[in-house]
Amino acid sequence: MLCRYCGAQAPDDAVFCSYCGGDLRGSAPASYDVEPPEVNDFLAWNILASFFCFMPFGIVGVVFSALSLYAKEKRDWAKALEHAAVAKKFFILSLAVWGFFAVVAFIGFVIFAVVGALGVAAV
Ligand SMILES: [Zn+2]
Repeated sequence: MLCRYCGAQAPDDAVFCSYCGGDLRGSAPASYDVEPPEVNDFLAWNILASFFCFMPFGIVGVVFSALSLYAKEKRDWAKALEHAAVAKKFFILSLAVWGFFAVVAFIGFVIFAVVGALGVAAV
């Protein structure tokens, strides 16, 4: 069963929680009977974004992913979801910045190719 005070896992026959010392006699409240929400912390994605996309946003994303993981560890689902949402935003931001530079580089490449072709044709 789960401790009603801290949410830690405790043996079903335990009288007191070994984690917080809470009294486990009686039934647990409904809130701990439900499955914890699925929190996608985007940690792996933000680490990838730090290496391959836009480093500053990627690192901020990693920090918020870590905060989300930490909140999950403490079973603070509201905080975990909140930090995960910020981590996701920074991941999308670093993707967007990377995409912008990729498009600029591509346009630059096309311009150089066209100018180069014209230059060859003129000679
Ligand atoms: Zn406890």
